[in-house]
Order: sequence, then structure tokens, then C-alpha cells
Amino acid sequence: MGKVIAVFNQKGGVGKTTTNVNLSASIGKMGKKVLVLDLDPQGNTTSGYGIEKQEVENTIYEVMLDGVDIREAILPTEFDNVDTIASATELSGAEIELTNMDKREYVLKNAIECVRKDYDYIFIDCPPSLGMLTINCLTAVDSVLIPIQCEYYALEGVSQLMETIKLVKSRLNPHIEIQGVVLSMFDGRANLSIQVVEEVKRYFKGSVYTTLIPRNVRLAEAPSHGKPVIYYDARCRGAEAYMDLAEEFIDLEEDII
Ligand code: ADP
Ligand code: MG
Repeated sequence: MGKVIAVFNQKGGVGKTTTNVNLSASIGKMGKKVLVLDLDPQGNTTSGYGIEKQEVENTIYEVMLDGVDIREAILPTEFDNVDTIASATELSGAEIELTNMDKREYVLKNAIECVRKDYDYIFIDCPPSLGMLTINCLTAVDSVLIPIQCEYYALEGVSQLMETIKLVKSRLNPHIEIQGVVLSMFDGRANLSIQVVEEVKRYFKGSVYTTLIPRNVRLAEAPSHGKPVIYYDARCRGAEAYMDLAEEFIDLEEDII
């Protein structure tokens, strides 16, 4: 059975989408079968994988709101071992539309259940809000991967984030865990970045990945080419970092370090 993981932090611009696209692609490259589901109405994961949103017939919106079979929404990508499910702008309206649905918190979980067996990992990109979409996401997942930007106020909002996870754990999803914390946009020359790493490690104890994701312009460029960075410039520092993170992730999952 595949493991379902949310890339989550309600703060915007911290590297959620960048991590979702590039970690999933790197894990696919390692030979694991991956499904990437874009739950953010902005659809940056969808476009980051080179998919034109306007041309997609069935998105996660049709799956969650119109009862379309999730298998009808799966799109293959040209990248090794990765399938995707696209988001749509109409998804922003889903926050309200879901409110009237029966078992509204479990809509995504129920939809994902029948494709779990087809994948090793299912990654979900969350919107930066705490509405019904995020609640559906946190209810559906086994674990949460938290990107944190190495910047001023890095831990701002983290206690709220942990409260949200605790609330979901007590009411909707008792098995939810922290998969790991990824430090993104690290600048080794800046004292601030180094301080943030220390601070985050103190807060999250053993949950922080050793691999640091550097600030690297190739990571910001790759989405405009519709490619994960390892297919855009495999030798740049950003690509190497996400491959290292994928290896660390798999090693911890398979308990070999
Ligand atoms: P979120 O999904 O949390 O809002 P994004 O992944 O979209 O954050 O990142 C915010 C912006 O920062 C984007 O323009 C992205 O290209 C850029 N970015 C993210 N990570 C890096 C990085 N490691 N180096 C350089 N730019 C990055
Ligand atoms: Mg995003």
C-alpha cells in the first residue's frame, strides 16, 4: 500500500510546491512509483510538471465535487515513474461547496483509497490555507512533510501548524505523523540561515532532514520549462540537493541508516 504524504505549511512561499515537484520527481527517478496530486487551486505543481491546466478533462475538482472516478483523473507524465492529478482554479470554490457535502472531511481520503495500491508514494501539494481542502488533505494522509524557509520568522506560524495537525489527529486522523522537516532556500554564507537551521532543529528535534535545500536559481527557473529540476539541469546544486533529499527520505523509510 502506498504511503500518502502532504507537503504542508500554511505559510506561503516557503518552498512547498518546489519540494513537492522536485522530491517526487527524484523519488520517481530512484525507481519508486509516485503519484503527485495538486490540491492547490493555483496549480503550480500541475504546471511545474508541464501540464496545461486548460487541457485537462478531469482534475481533482471533478473527483472531489462531481464524483468522477479518481482513476479517470490520473495523467501520466514524461518523467520516470511519476503520474499526476491536476488541480483547477475552480478548486478555490470547493472550499465552500464541500461544506454541504456528507462526510465532507473524508472526500479526498475515500477517493485516494482505490489507487493507493498502485503507488509507492502519493504526494499532495496543499494550498496555503486552513480551509476544507487542507482538512481533507490532512485527513487523507499518513504523514506530513513540512518545508521551512531559512529566513527571518522561519518558525512564525509553526505552532499554529502543529496545533492544526494535533487537532486533525485527535478528531479525524489518529495515525497522522510528521514525515520530516525540510529546510529550504538555505544560504551557507548567511549567518541567518545557519541560525535558522539550529533553531528549527531545536524545535523539531530529530525530525529535520540532514539535507539542506540551497537557494538556487535553477529551482526557480525549472517550472517555467514545465520540468522538475533534475530534468532541466541535472547537475545544478538544486537538482543535487533534491536527489540527496530523496535518498535520505528513502533510507529513513526503509530504515537502512
Ligand atoms: P510555496 O508552494 O510554499 O508557496 P514555492 O515552492 O512556490 O512555495 O516557492 C516560492 C518561490 O520561491 C517560487 O518562486 C520558487 O520558484 C522559489 N523557490 C523555492 N525554493 C527555492 C530555492 N531553493 N531556491 C530558489 N528559489 C526557490
Ligand atoms: Mg505552492
